Amino acid sequence: MTYNELKEQENQYVMNTYGRFAIAMDHGEGAQLWDAEGKRYIDLTSGIGVCCLGYNNEKIIDAITQQAHKLMHVSNLFTTEPMVQVAKTLVEQTGMGKVFFSNSGAESNEGMIKLARKYSYDKYGEGRAEIVTLYNSFHGRTVTTLKATGQDKFHQYFFPFTEGFAYAKANDFESVKAAVNAHTCAVMMELIQGEGGVMPLDQEFVKQVAAYCRENDLLLLVDEVQTGIGRTGSLFCFQQYGIQPDVVSMAKGLGGGVPIGAVMASKTCENVLGPGTHATTFGGTPMICAAANAVLSEVTQPEFLQSVREKGEYFKKQLLAMGADKIQDVRGMGLMVGIVVDPEERAALVAEIMDKGVLVLTAGTNVIRLLPPLSISYEEIDEALAVMKTVFCK
Ligand SMILES: *Cc1c(COP(=O)(O)O)cnc(C)c1O
Repeated sequence: MTYNELKEQENQYVMNTYGRFAIAMDHGEGAQLWDAEGKRYIDLTSGIGVCCLGYNNEKIIDAITQQAHKLMHVSNLFTTEPMVQVAKTLVEQTGMGKVFFSNSGAESNEGMIKLARKYSYDKYGEGRAEIVTLYNSFHGRTVTTLKATGQDKFHQYFFPFTEGFAYAKANDFESVKAAVNAHTCAVMMELIQGEGGVMPLDQEFVKQVAAYCRENDLLLLVDEVQTGIGRTGSLFCFQQYGIQPDVVSMAKGLGGGVPIGAVMASKTCENVLGPGTHATTFGGTPMICAAANAVLSEVTQPEFLQSVREKGEYFKKQLLAMGADKIQDVRGMGLMVGIVVDPEERAALVAEIMDKGVLVLTAGTNVIRLLPPLSISYEEIDEALAVMKTVFCK
């Protein structure tokens, strides 16, 4: 079907909740995609940070295929090897304690929030359930994670939201302290605010918050849904911040293109969620965990992570070397890159870049966000940069 035919049916049958681009995607290979009309694109989006090993990755396909033939799904009433293996790898790579599996980022954050509240309930009883999050954050679309998200525009329509969130300013330690009171049980943050505009938090601020949490028995919850799984050049971003969080949530890149999320707790709170307190039908299902194992076997390699850091530096250097007035700043870590532009110009810039065959994302009000597959080649990067140069340097 052509784009127009598909779109007509989509309009008839699918809820209109997404501002989609006028493109129907058909297939992909590496960091390239082809649309329904056969037009080719260099992809700097990875399906919003998901397809970290690119499209059509043989190792992931083989892992899924073999596991599908063996056992696709069986429920959490039974133990399965792929699930245990994912958890073992995550724990061994991070020094954390134990893992709970979910299916998405928002759901992982829900689990993280539940864990923090129960930790506090078990130890201090009722009334210590508030969580401090940061302004400009993004934590998901459920009724609870919308409220955890520190942006007013997300606190609409769906009242009543879950109570118990207070907000503090990023990179402002006094603001965090001011938001904490006798009812607080945790502080939750993304180390690089992704949807908020690719805003890396200051190392010093993060360390201060981590120390403050420790002193006051507040759990430090780190949302690595976007920054995790090698995106920033380490398996998790927190590993470059010199902190050890109490709980880490992840999703997006973990399955390399299939839905999976996880919550990982440190040894101090790894047993807080006991039998009957938390569950989900599909969590840790074998076929999906087989994909995650294929992803992790690649993404945990030191050479692979180094290549992510190098490609990220190359992107930044080349973008700045364009000397374009339209580029006000380039920031981020690894292959999570934000190009700061004039908010008035952004839509036109993105439209032109996309029209010329390079797919990019936006974030915040003034950022063009790049989340390319971590496996993108230098040829693909150069082709994308050449296109962006013609747009930025006009
Ligand atoms: C994408 C994202 C989420 C939500 O993940 P879903 O899988 O869409 O529920 C939560 N937190 C952060 C930091 C994200 O980038």
